[in-house]
Amino acid sequence: MTEDGYNPYKMAQEQFDRIAEKLDLEESLRELLREPIREYHFNLPVKMDEGGTKVFKAFRVQHNDALGPCKGGIRFHPEETIDTVRALAMWMTWKTAVADLPLGGGKGGVICDPRELSDREQERICREYIKAINKNIGPLQDVPAPDVMTTAQHMLWMMDEYECIKGGQYPGVITGKPEGKGGSKGRTEATGYGVIYVLRELLDEIDRDFEEITASIQGFGNVAQHAAELFIEYGGTLVSVSCWDQEDKKAYCYYREDGVCIDELRSITDRYGSIDKKKAKERGYEQFPGDDWLKHEVDLLIPAALENAINEDNVDDIPSCVELIVSGANGPITPEADEILEDRDMIVVPDFLANSGGVTCSYFEQVQNNQNYYWPKDEVLEKLDNSMTKAFHEVWDMAQEKDVRMRDAAYMISINKVAEACKARGWI
Ligand code: GLU
Repeated sequence: MTEDGYNPYKMAQEQFDRIAEKLDLEESLRELLREPIREYHFNLPVKMDEGGTKVFKAFRVQHNDALGPCKGGIRFHPEETIDTVRALAMWMTWKTAVADLPLGGGKGGVICDPRELSDREQERICREYIKAINKNIGPLQDVPAPDVMTTAQHMLWMMDEYECIKGGQYPGVITGKPEGKGGSKGRTEATGYGVIYVLRELLDEIDRDFEEITASIQGFGNVAQHAAELFIEYGGTLVSVSCWDQEDKKAYCYYREDGVCIDELRSITDRYGSIDKKKAKERGYEQFPGDDWLKHEVDLLIPAALENAINEDNVDDIPSCVELIVSGANGPITPEADEILEDRDMIVVPDFLANSGGVTCSYFEQVQNNQNYYWPKDEVLEKLDNSMTKAFHEVWDMAQEKDVRMRDAAYMISINKVAEACKARGWI
């Protein structure tokens, strides 16, 4: 979100420029890759339940499609901005490339707060969004998916609207659909599980075991819940979960020294990932301000909410015992904070590698849609694990070989891949 000088698009461009310089990329490629290829802005008129029409602003940004159709989620958020969507679209390009998927990068957003809208109103937003963008998306052009505050149900409404307009079955127009309605088994778990597959490989490289790792997680939406679930299943101890409280309009952390119980927390969490504070207290969780999620004495931080979570202002609040950061969110660490973490020898697995499980499973969903043949969950998760493990080791090995941090190694791999594709196509 753009606020108080923080601009995610500038941040994404800064990260790109740094590596473009290291790779000595030609000027025309830099110009092409530091901005989106195309973007769409629209106003969506939506009939409200109480009567009257409200107009919602919405965007779709296609950053690059040299490696394949653009791919990336659609976010519903009251503070969405075009620059946030641009940054996220750019990060999707690097994400699909580092995950070695035949896809490009895109992202969409609607400025709205689903927590304040009925299901019918949300359905109308989804349908209006597709009416506005249907000519410019499609299985061979640009394929949306869920993201912050959008779910399988939103994807199904969008697919249905697209099919009504086109007059046919097009399950591959969108991914993250419900199982049995064109969705892949394992898609809901994929992003969160992927974060932990990557963590498992990292711990193996540095000779550590899950049993000795304590963690604090920011966020309790779909990604955070599944990351927490697998982290605990693998033997880790999660002591703190922070999440948004819609009633107080601020975040809180829920802390338990001997580890949180994920099923218990889930049973008192709404569909937007807000934990009921009264029920949490009754169940013995200590409540702290939301910002405290990074102040706890743990080994591992998992930011799994929004961008700009760790920045210049709060990076020094991270205690010295924290050794690892593995990101479920997109863009949670600003470049300034990243520098400071590097000086502290912190191991940071970059967001667009760690959270690439979602889009990898989306790719599997498209493959299954094309085959009209659906794989069992074990097969999906095994393929996902293999793919994430391979991507992690490519980045890890490159970081060792070039003696750079993992973020730079991941950027080098993905920018090189996309740059090569642009050149091979004769664009440059
Ligand atoms: N929104 C997810 C992400 O940021 C998934 C994108 C997709 O599946 O296309 O990676």
